[in-house]
Amino acid sequence: MSPKSLSFVCVSTIILVVSESQNTLNDVLFSGNYEFIDLTHPYDNSTIYWPGTQKFVFTKKIAGYRRDGTWYAANDFASGEHGGTHIDAPYHFTKSGQSVGDLPVETLIASLIVVDVSSMVNDDENFVLYKYHLKYLLNYNCDKTCLIIFKFGWSKYFNDRNKYLGIEENTDTLKFPGLSNEIAEWITTSYKTVVGIGVDVASVDPGSSDEFRVHKTLSQKGIYNIENVNLNLNRTIPEFGCTALVMPMLISQGTGAPVRLIAICPKVVPALYNV
Ligand SMILES: [Zn+2]
Repeated sequence: MSPKSLSFVCVSTIILVVSESQNTLNDVLFSGNYEFIDLTHPYDNSTIYWPGTQKFVFTKKIAGYRRDGTWYAANDFASGEHGGTHIDAPYHFTKSGQSVGDLPVETLIASLIVVDVSSMVNDDENFVLYKYHLKYLLNYNCDKTCLIIFKFGWSKYFNDRNKYLGIEENTDTLKFPGLSNEIAEWITTSYKTVVGIGVDVASVDPGSSDEFRVHKTLSQKGIYNIENVNLNLNRTIPEFGCTALVMPMLISQGTGAPVRLIAICPKVVPALYNV
């Protein structure tokens, strides 16, 4: 090997090492160009659960100093699967569907699209989202593993259970906005990379639904839901360009589970997305 070619090898090795060290996932995540946004409602006495579900019960057990002067604290909690910010596994509405424990982790880290329809909803509890509302979504290719969150503008009511669920006295009915089955059919036939659908209301179906057609359509295609997403943020979340981390409690046979939902978003939002 000539000295010239040797120096080429050395330089190319250095370039390779430097470029690799600058392109690890950690380098990207902690470069200062991204921020981490929590889209989760906390679990406490006021957390909203689907009617008839075990609410969050937090039992303080021990909190104090031991004889040797050191501190020790530990609590118990109990919870239904379908309350607060939580995942619906396909098994929730499809007998042959995956349970929470079956969901591959590869589907729980996904590119995030936020579809903000809150101005169309305009606080109308009877609003149902149809395809004609969303022509522009056709431009979103969603060419990677993808989670779509629909923002109805309902998170602001989460501290008022009756308002959030649309409960009227002396009735069994609920009223809050949701998706039409037309949207569910459209997503499952046109967007093959969608792994999950999120909403900032208590169900992907409208509150008035008793057929749960959206749940059925999505679960039959193996798509999970995230309900009660917290979008009552003191900032706007980019409609595209973020990555979602969907981290459910690993309840092996769960039909659902509490989720810690995080969006990792670029501080400078890209101007265009695969249009
Ligand atoms: Zn649920």
